Amino acid sequence: MKFYVLTIFPELMETLLRSSILGRAEKNGFLDFHVLNIRDYSTDRHKKTDDYPYGGGAGMVMTAQPVYDAYEAARKEIGGPVRTIYLTPAAKVFTQKDAKAYAKEEALILLCGHYEGVDQRVLDEIVTDEISIGDYVLTGGEPAAWVLIDAISRMVPGVLTNETSGEQESLEGGLLEYPQYTRPELWRDHRVPEILLSGDHAKVDAWRRDQAILKTKAVRPELLAEAELTTKERARFLSEPPSHDA
Ligand code: SAM
Repeated sequence: MKFYVLTIFPELMETLLRSSILGRAEKNGFLDFHVLNIRDYSTDRHKKTDDYPYGGGAGMVMTAQPVYDAYEAARKEIGGPVRTIYLTPAAKVFTQKDAKAYAKEEALILLCGHYEGVDQRVLDEIVTDEISIGDYVLTGGEPAAWVLIDAISRMVPGVLTNETSGEQESLEGGLLEYPQYTRPELWRDHRVPEILLSGDHAKVDAWRRDQAILKTKAVRPELLAEAELTTKERARFLSEPPSHDA
């Protein structure tokens, strides 16, 4: 899968993308990163990429021309229509479902904003999707682009060496993950739950499933409405205690 990132901080983006699992996946040919420096496309004599906002107000706004030309360079390389994502806090919040859906694309372009954002006219022209990574405001779109690329890449076949690990994690089936333990069996008076040492895989799976439901119910109860639970599980974990008024 190919990712084209349009940014005014290319070095930062390169460092983020070329380390760890993503870097290895690129070396092995599963991912392909292209970081385009928006400044390189500026036709301004001083390579400016921002200007004062019309109508006044604080801060600067990224100008349309260099963003558009950087986008055009990426689009030409890709060769066909491509989903183009603008990272912005003024959008729907990114989820694991989105990560899975985007992983089916052959290429994506991600546009990182700065200052007060980007001239709306170029956004109207090039952007197909607007995505936020959460209800808070960052100084720039790079950390958000990295978050998307990381989450999407893990869903691209071949990127995770253990193919199954992406399928049993938090948010799969709408549940958060069960707790994990490793050696030693006893650490500062805390024992690993006995069932995990039993060797009985069916019992371990059942315990993990229960723990996942309990954890989700405790910290993200709103997820349970959409979670894939059996009728039995719904009755066991979700039924309200009988009302004493009745
Ligand atoms: N003035 C903008 C607003 O109120 O919506 C905020 C601009 S923010 C300071 C600068 C850039 O950071 C944005 O253009 C966007 O690319 C990025 N950004 C900030 N918060 C983000 C978030 N929660 N998700 C994705 N991108 C974000």
